[in-house]
Amino acid sequence: MEINWKDVFLNDLTFTFATEIVVRTLIMFLLILTLLRLSGKKGVRQLSIFEVAIIIGFGSAAGDPMFTKDIAIIPSVIVLITILLLYRGITWVAAKSEAFESILEGKPMYVIEDGQFVLTDEDLTFAKDEFLAELRQQSIEHLGQVRVAILETTGNVSFYYYNDDDTKPGMPVLPKVYNLKSENIPDQGDYACTYCGNVTHIKVSQHQCGRCKKKEWVKAIDTLRLT
Ligand SMILES: [Zn+2]
Repeated sequence: MEINWKDVFLNDLTFTFATEIVVRTLIMFLLILTLLRLSGKKGVRQLSIFEVAIIIGFGSAAGDPMFTKDIAIIPSVIVLITILLLYRGITWVAAKSEAFESILEGKPMYVIEDGQFVLTDEDLTFAKDEFLAELRQQSIEHLGQVRVAILETTGNVSFYYYNDDDTKPGMPVLPKVYNLKSENIPDQGDYACTYCGNVTHIKVSQHQCGRCKKKEWVKAIDTLRLT
């Protein structure tokens, strides 16, 4: 099989059409900007799943007429306006109905309560190490500093902290400390279950967590949160 490099890079591109591509791109770009402003969305730092779907539809409809000879701009504009109206319509309904909103965007979920991971029947949608990274991003050193953590529908995590007097021993999240986890308990003390964050005083190895029934522990720490 021989690759025709001219086809790969140029195909039947002429200078005239190359110029046309520049004009088409300018027009589509201005259209996208205008329509995104009309969508009412203020920024895109965090997109919900629903918004990502809209953006994908938008991008596809807007991109094709930039460089495809057979695709005119008006049909693409019709697609864009339809998507925009759909977006505005759906957000309008979502603003009226909480049930509809949670079907569309999911629900905020408690991940930490009282310095421990919340045990739910449904699996967390993200990995433990990702979540520990999230804690470190907030300069949290152990779970005992956190009263509540909520996973928002945008993927952000909201944290509420204990004040210094209420901070309790908790599972450390710094890698060097967390990775000392083991089923062996060298000497007695307060240990945190690495699965659920439950802190217990343990004297012997192979101790089973009273909360989640797992057996892996890491020494609990109780440093205060520096703000
Ligand atoms: Zn546990």
